[in-house]
Amino acid sequence: MNYSKQREKILDVLSNNAVHPTAEYLLDLLKKEHANIGYTTLYRNLNQLAQARIIKKIDGLENSARFDHNTHEHYHFICEKCNRVFDIPKGVAPDLLNNTRKATGFDITSHDIIFHGVCHECKRKDS
Ligand SMILES: [Zn+2]
Ligand SMILES: [Zn+2]
Repeated sequence: MNYSKQREKILDVLSNNAVHPTAEYLLDLLKKEHANIGYTTLYRNLNQLAQARIIKKIDGLENSARFDHNTHEHYHFICEKCNRVFDIPKGVAPDLLNNTRKATGFDITSHDIIFHGVCHECKRKDS
């Protein structure tokens, strides 16, 4: 597969998968679709796509980064029990970017806001 075909395939698999997958998970999906992409190539592509802001890389988990095809402004919540990543709409803090710009005078190009805690399902299991 040539380079642009690879990227297309990776984006395709990522955007059909709204659960903030890890690179490992994406690799499994790609294999199932018989895309001949190795882990190193996949990881390099994902990082390049994130750098170009075509996708978003979510760090903040000890073991492995997650990838997000949704680059619209939103926040994340990571469950510390099951490690799943949930979206939080930007409406919870509508003026956060503007207020931060005003307060600091910085040119802000992006932000990564991650909340940590326990999701509904894990909370239910615990009680
Ligand atoms: Zn959970
Ligand atoms: Zn997201």
